Amino acid sequence: MDVEALKRYYSGVSEERLKALVAEGLGDLVPEALSVLQAELTRRGLLDLAQAVQIQISGPEPAELDAIVAWLRSSACPICGRRGTALNACRVDSLYDSEFLLGCPSCLDSSVRRAESRNALGCLFAPLGLVFGTRAAVRNREAVRVVSSAEPSDALVEYARKHHATLAVSMRAVPENPEP
Ligand SMILES: [Zn+2]
Repeated sequence: MDVEALKRYYSGVSEERLKALVAEGLGDLVPEALSVLQAELTRRGLLDLAQAVQIQISGPEPAELDAIVAWLRSSACPICGRRGTALNACRVDSLYDSEFLLGCPSCLDSSVRRAESRNALGCLFAPLGLVFGTRAAVRNREAVRVVSSAEPSDALVEYARKHHATLAVSMRAVPENPEP
């Protein structure tokens, strides 16, 4: 991405919007954008926010990443609201998109199965559906296998790594009883 264009963009964004951007999470920004954003926040004297961006740039310490994953897993399931089963995450692939889902194993399992029925139906009607549907089915079967195991899935760890700066702030604010 063009760094000069990023500089021009962030220098024209209002302070409110910059604050909202950091609060929404920095996980989707490419490294160049993070550096330019950090410089802009520093230039405007928003040093706490610049610090949050720096944490995102440096990446989590392994112990912090473990803590974030454990905290996420102990949350109430965002789909059924129940507690007591360690949450996991997977990507559910359908014919048209791929969705990241965090939830208890039973909710994730149902979501994958629902996507499977939609895919099967799509394959009947869309000429290319069969090709995409077969690929999606292989990935979804893998997703079911992963979420039924006791270990955090790669998708969950990747999510925690990508959004660690924002998640770390939420974790400190609500150490017990978290709601994702
Ligand atoms: Zn659930």
